[in-house]
Parts: sequence; structure tokens; C-alpha cells
Amino acid sequence: MIFEAKTFCGCESPYETSRFVIFGAPFDGQASFRPGARFGPSEMRRDSWGLESYSPLLDRDLEDIGVADAGDLELPCGSTTESLLRVRRAFTNFFEDKKIPVMIGGDHSMTLAGIQAAAKQYDNLHVIHLDAHTDLREDYLGDPLSHGSVMRRAFELLGKGRIHSFGVRSGLREEFAFAREHLHFYPFVLDQAGLAIDVIGEAPVYVTIDLDLLDPSVCPGTGTPEPEGVSFAELRRALSIFGKLHVVATDIMELSPPCDLSGASTAVACKLLREWLLMIK
Ligand code: MN
Ligand code: MN
Repeated sequence: MIFEAKTFCGCESPYETSRFVIFGAPFDGQASFRPGARFGPSEMRRDSWGLESYSPLLDRDLEDIGVADAGDLELPCGSTTESLLRVRRAFTNFFEDKKIPVMIGGDHSMTLAGIQAAAKQYDNLHVIHLDAHTDLREDYLGDPLSHGSVMRRAFELLGKGRIHSFGVRSGLREEFAFAREHLHFYPFVLDQAGLAIDVIGEAPVYVTIDLDLLDPSVCPGTGTPEPEGVSFAELRRALSIFGKLHVVATDIMELSPPCDLSGASTAVACKLLREWLLMIK
């Protein structure tokens, strides 16, 4: 019998009293290289069976902070617009119920729906973008909804100075020029996380984590792995700083189980999600 996990890491708080709501967006119709991210949410749930809900380092437990798991959305992987619509609707419902939505991807294109819904709900929204890639392409092979364009679309929605990109080490020359001009841009490293705190202050923040931010030696199981990434410890340190912000929504994207032959990347994604949720103030 194959074990079927109903919830992530035993997150079984009743919806009504939960602060966080996890849900899966199993979509990879915009993966430009290796597909498979549609299996990310179900694989993380299954793998989280081996993960404790308690963090010894933080001395906090998922069972104490109110986390519900709403399961996966039903998404048509062949239609990006319909999938974005459904993801946007889910975010909106969770915002109306005063929850902090936590999306598990899925490829990074679905983050646009989360940012759109958050921007409608919260004035002066900022985005913390953790990624190996700029994701600032005008379009990818003519498609403006590509996962390689998601931050460009977010920029058009939010305007200058609202996106804070960290750890980026791959993209077109034009994208890097665009990022330097229009974003708070901290390529290659994460050690300037504190600067975002100074700029953002008390404003609401959407934190999006593209797992390819991590070095492929740590997390090879993504659609587009990129060498010279950060370590788990470096990401943990940065997140402990971002956790002091007014986080209104977050996501963890681009885990591709078919590319995760050892299963280690899924374990990394699960522990990362646990630690991150426990760090949000
Ligand atoms: Mn990305
Ligand atoms: Mn990426």
C-alpha cells in the first residue's frame, strides 16, 4: 500500500481557527525546461510523514501556530489563464477569511495569481523574491505568462521599488539591467536581507521562494537547477529576518519530484516550509 498523506506534516488545525492555510497548486504548464512540478504538493505531503512538526532549533511546533491544509486545487495544466484564475480565487477566499495563504507549487508562474490577489487585498504590497533567476522576461517564446516572466508581470502591477529580489544569478543581460533600475536587487547572495527590512518597514509582504535559489548540491530536484546557489543555512538566516516583516502570504515553488531522484530535494523543501512558517512573527 502506498501511503497517502492527507495533510502536510500533520497540519490538522480546524480551518476556522487556523492562522495559516496551506494549499497545493499542481501546475507545470509553464515549465520551460524539465517539467514535473505538478507533483510537488502531493510529494511534499507524502514526504512530510518523515518530518517532525517540532523545530528543535526554533523551539516551536507547527501544532501550536494554527496551520490547516486545504489540499490541492484542481488545475488544468494545459491552460495557464484558467489555472491563474483558480489560484487567484483561492487566495482571495483565504484573504477574506483573514488567513495567511501558503501555496505549494507548481511552477513559478502561479505566483502571479497570488500577488494579484494580495495586491487587491493589501495596499502598498511588497514582494520578496528568492530565486536563481530574474524571472523578468517580457515574454518567453511569445508567452507573457511564462514562469520566466512572473516578476515582470508583478512589476507592472506593483510599480517601482516594491520587488526585492535576492540570490539571482541567471537571466538575460536586459533583465539584469531592468532589475538594477527598477527593483531592490541583491544578486548572488542573501546577506543583505536586513536592507529589505529598512525599506519595507510595516508594509504588507508576499514572500515567494523558488527552490532553485538553493544550490543544486542542496536541492537538485527543480525544473531549472542553477549552480553557485546558496546553502540551506544561508536561506534559513535570511528567512529569520524576513519573518519579522508583516507577511500576508507566501509560497514555495518549483519542486519537481521526477527530477528528485534521491528524494533529498523534497526533504529539503518540507523542512524549509516547516522552519519558514515557524519563523513568521
Ligand atoms: Mn522563478
Ligand atoms: Mn528559478
